[in-house]
Amino acid sequence: MEIKKGDTVVILTGKDKGKKGAVIKASPADKKVVVEGLNMVTKHVKPRGANQPGGKVDQPAAIDVSNVMLVCPVCGKATKVAHEIADGKNVRKCKKCGAVLDGKAVQKKATAKKATAKKSVKKADAELPVEEAPATEKPAPKKAVRKTAAKKSAE
Ligand SMILES: [Zn+2]
Repeated sequence: MEIKKGDTVVILTGKDKGKKGAVIKASPADKKVVVEGLNMVTKHVKPRGANQPGGKVDQPAAIDVSNVMLVCPVCGKATKVAHEIADGKNVRKCKKCGAVLDGKAVQKKATAKKATAKKSVKKADAELPVEEAPATEKPAPKKAVRKTAAKKSAE
């Protein structure tokens, strides 16, 4: 199943459409997930002794996994999941940003990639031709200053 316990998902249908929550239970056999605080139902509980007097209890009900979409923890977008074999393991990948969603070490790789991308952009900026323009203009004001200085000393 593409959704696992601990994932953040967004609800696609029903009264909680568009809301996000953490998956607290995933049942691959039923293709259903339970999302914390969402798709709440009121359950009527029968009294079971002094500590459990019974009554109404609000609790999240299982949602068909096709009615939720994974929210990528890296790019924050609702995304479909791609599968990839990495280091002999089947891992899930975000189809939007390409981040690997299983395993902390792999997520670090994704951030490192971002940092490298930023660095190369900065380098490109630094390499822009900035030498020629000031070189032609600089001597002129210097001469002007010298002339005025010379005039002043002559007077
Ligand atoms: Zn992503």
